[in-house]
Amino acid sequence: MKNKIRKTGGNESKASIADIPDEYFKGKKVFLRVDLNVPVKGGNIGEDFRIRRTIASIDYLVKRGALVILASHLGRPEGKPSADLSLKPIRERLSVLLDRENIFFVDNCTGSDVRNAVNSLKSGDILLLENLRFHKSETDNDVGFARQLSSLAEIYVNDAFSTSHRKHASTYGIEPFFDIKLAGFLVEKEIQILSEVRDNPKRPLVLIIGGAKIKDKIAALKHLIKKADKVILGGGPAYTFLASEGVEVGKSLVDSSFFETVREISSRYYDRILLPIDHVVALDENAGSKMLTDRIPEGYRAMDIGEKTTAVYTHEIMNSNGTIFWNGPMGVFENDEFARGTIDIARAFSIAYWRGARTVVGGGDTTACLRKAEILETEVDFVSTGGGATLLYLSGEEIPGISILDSLKEIKNRF
Ligand code: AMP
Repeated sequence: MKNKIRKTGGNESKASIADIPDEYFKGKKVFLRVDLNVPVKGGNIGEDFRIRRTIASIDYLVKRGALVILASHLGRPEGKPSADLSLKPIRERLSVLLDRENIFFVDNCTGSDVRNAVNSLKSGDILLLENLRFHKSETDNDVGFARQLSSLAEIYVNDAFSTSHRKHASTYGIEPFFDIKLAGFLVEKEIQILSEVRDNPKRPLVLIIGGAKIKDKIAALKHLIKKADKVILGGGPAYTFLASEGVEVGKSLVDSSFFETVREISSRYYDRILLPIDHVVALDENAGSKMLTDRIPEGYRAMDIGEKTTAVYTHEIMNSNGTIFWNGPMGVFENDEFARGTIDIARAFSIAYWRGARTVVGGGDTTACLRKAEILETEVDFVSTGGGATLLYLSGEEIPGISILDSLKEIKNRF
């Protein structure tokens, strides 16, 4: 059976759990798709940012007497159960964050054990299902699997913003099988902040784009540069721009398939774009051959922006009191030898926040940059949980997992 997808349009307001009368949730089973995909090693959670961001929706539903069924993926188990990628350790963290002991767990997400576990739930209970991606049918967007998942509950809630760009069974395939499909608070907040950046930013709008996923960044840039006042480039996107203009970039990270696109962007918006004017280069990841240079010698690769570039970039950022959106590090920041540029940018970004700019960060790696620079979450306006989803949203593309949600208008008409 082919999924029938109701086109709701990218810009139409979506209904959230707050748009349903409180009493409607009482005794109802809610399938809450969350993104609990956090780093777990040997049963220990490295970073629980994404878990913390789901707490508000869980708490809200529990307090209204719903039976909350939590579903998520963790890592890439490629359709096979794997003890390392079990969601079981996440239950303990949820317990702590929600300050309650009785969070139930079942070691599958479909089948009779799951049905039994769901049937024994009472109002206000929480059940965490095992990793959805232990079934290949999840990533294959299998209709039968989507039907089985949706048979567990009466209401669907998507609070997994960072997975919403995927057409998977739990984020997209479930569409025809639920009558009520709502956004959770995290998805609602992400949409609100990112659409403000995209459609109605406080000016000037400054974009800082770096990192390694050149395709995603350039796609977003192509759309956003029309509205941006300044674009600060680092990492792979910067060297792709430089190389497209014939600048010698040695073995720096470049994607030549985008030369045409970036040349078009440059010729139209050259006065908005800032590119590195000096570089920290090395022969490889090993910092032994590291040097600071204006020109990249043959055989070398740019690993970080140089001091002069950093001075220009930080000046631009600190003196901006509009909106600043940042995605992607300026260099290979995981290695301390190549982290200076990214750390200085992070600190300038935070200073801009203190001076009144609206500062928004997207992507897990960029969040790690803030942490490395010792910037607190409270020293930026908003940290988006999404990487690919955030860029896709900013590119103006429809996000599958959001497009399937009920519009506010529809829900208002029904309740
Ligand atoms: P992304 O997920 O696209 O934001 O990419 C993050 C990754 O980009 C990080 O792991 C960085 O090490 C990498 N990166 C940033 N700048 C460079 C560069 N100049 N050369 C190679 N990798 C880079």
